[in-house]
Amino acid sequence: MPLAEITARVRAAERVAGRADGAVTLIAVSKVQPADRVRAVLAEGHRVFGENYVQEAAGKWPAWRDRFGRLDLHMIGPLQTNKAKVAVELFDAIHTLDRPSLAQKLASLQQAGARLPKLFVQVNTGEEPQKAGVLPGDLAGFLQDCRGMGLSPIGLMCIPPEGEDSTPHFAMLAKMAAEHGLAGLSMGMSGDFEAAIAHGATHVRVGSAIFGARDYQV
Ligand SMILES: *Cc1c(COP(=O)(O)O)cnc(C)c1O
Repeated sequence: MPLAEITARVRAAERVAGRADGAVTLIAVSKVQPADRVRAVLAEGHRVFGENYVQEAAGKWPAWRDRFGRLDLHMIGPLQTNKAKVAVELFDAIHTLDRPSLAQKLASLQQAGARLPKLFVQVNTGEEPQKAGVLPGDLAGFLQDCRGMGLSPIGLMCIPPEGEDSTPHFAMLAKMAAEHGLAGLSMGMSGDFEAAIAHGATHVRVGSAIFGARDYQV
């Protein structure tokens, strides 16, 4: 079963990197996967999942929560401001705090009494024009603004540019997190999660290596 194999590879990468056993959280990215594949992974006892679309996640996870008990759900896709309220209610973590308007929306939900999920700030390490995320040069100011609004991000997240070596991006993200005293590092996907763990990832987001290829590319 791929899940057991991927879990074993995560544990092995932790050992190689001199990290504590279990230091890395494996997020099984279940977006657009058929329900039977996700149920099989739930039945094996895995409880940490990642989703990209609020609507899709809201349609399937409440029933699985009722059936399987405590789950740890991570929002890893771009979050529209008008879906923030639903996302805050559904998810335990949001990895894609990527702009001031979303920070303001989350802060206002918190002021209205919502308990916010754990927050990661997405950094556009490759400075790609089409990609979401705070530019590296803007991170210090963005974090300061977040804290001024009462938000306390716990880490940073990146999606390195397609087709490039990810490792310089992982190293850059780890350096920025250390500079800002942030413990969480969400980085590494199916093709590069071991390299991410070597660079200090605390959360790896692995989809196709666990569930198989998705029907459509996201
Ligand atoms: C889809 C997705 C993943 C998982 O990608 P795989 O290559 O299937 O492991 C990880 N992170 C984000 C942000 C994604 O959108």
